[in-house]
Amino acid sequence: MFNDKINRLVADIEDWMIEHRRNIHKYPEPSRKEYKTSSKVVSVLESLGLEVEKGYYTTGVVGIIRGKEGGRTLGLRFDMDALEMDELTNLPFASKNKGVMHACGHDGHTAIGLGVAKLLIQLRDEIKGNIKLIFQPAEEDAPNGGGAKYMIEDGVLKNPNVDAMVGLHLWPALKLGTVGTKVGPIMASSDPFTIEIIGKGAHASLPQEAVDPIVIGSQIVNNLQTIVSRNVDPFEQAVLTIGKFIGGTRYNTIPEKVTLEGTVRTYNEKIRKKVYTRIKEIVEKTAELMGGKATLNYNFGYPATINDEKMVELARKAIKDILGENNYVEIERPATGGEDFAYFAKEVPSVYMWVGYGKENEDVYPPHSPRFDFDEKALSIAVKVLVKLALKWGKVKENDKCN
Ligand SMILES: [Zn+2]
Ligand SMILES: [Zn+2]
Repeated sequence: MFNDKINRLVADIEDWMIEHRRNIHKYPEPSRKEYKTSSKVVSVLESLGLEVEKGYYTTGVVGIIRGKEGGRTLGLRFDMDALEMDELTNLPFASKNKGVMHACGHDGHTAIGLGVAKLLIQLRDEIKGNIKLIFQPAEEDAPNGGGAKYMIEDGVLKNPNVDAMVGLHLWPALKLGTVGTKVGPIMASSDPFTIEIIGKGAHASLPQEAVDPIVIGSQIVNNLQTIVSRNVDPFEQAVLTIGKFIGGTRYNTIPEKVTLEGTVRTYNEKIRKKVYTRIKEIVEKTAELMGGKATLNYNFGYPATINDEKMVELARKAIKDILGENNYVEIERPATGGEDFAYFAKEVPSVYMWVGYGKENEDVYPPHSPRFDFDEKALSIAVKVLVKLALKWGKVKENDKCN
């Protein structure tokens, strides 16, 4: 059985992978500064005999495996950056870089990528087409754009042209041993915005001489709440929250200016654009109606991550095949967090999966917790699924392209 061979090969590299994970964990580097992590990846890939390309968005690395038989190209993405925060785990391999921690599991993702490289190079004869392993910087760099976007601009999906993409994340809500995904949206878009309201300041006792930006701001906040309830299709989802309302210095003074800050989460571009357009109209017209002036500064952050139906079907088959029928989880609801893998998914048919590290009777720390850690058995599980998927994908008929 070919699955037995994969299981055996993965078991052989498990310790090697864990060692890499711990080493990466010990020396975490924040977004756009993944210099040592990146050169480590380069040296491992080179030592394994992969074709290696460097310099995508500075620290991005690509390893290419060309199968024995030619064909299309599948991209597998692994993010490498850590977060700027102090680690509180007490692990023997805890961060040595003060103020930086691998609290989102990207150390694990990078180790999974190295494991997949080590396995696929041994299974080269079984691969149809090419596999491009994409080690990406700056996933956590929202809302600056994220490494995915800039690697694409630097041509990572070209030569050989990538036909489909796969991404994953270690996930606490899924049990260890399981992997899950879903068709359509799996991660939200995440857009921050700022509203600046200019009125006319005056003494609190002379409102007739003022244009009160606090009253305008209050009206804007209320009117914005009608977007989700009145403009968004009830079968679609959106979140609009004002998290900051800043204005005024004294109880008896009407200020000149008020600033509001908030965020929008959506799961498709149509709703995202509609929400943006309505925010702009409401902000500008409400202020104008009340004699003031307001401007919206809206930052389109990561878009929603949308999984392709055929790629999900392929992933589903690969997971069930290698891990067993019961270890596939059909995810019901997308997460409200953002993920810059979304940019890849906008370019080519893609699937993004969640790899469980949750425990039955024990709480595990979620990503971005200073106590975050995961069961390293999840590394092997992810490698098995990716290898199986990569081998299966090569055999998808040319005329049955995923789209
Ligand atoms: Zn994160
Ligand atoms: Zn992450």
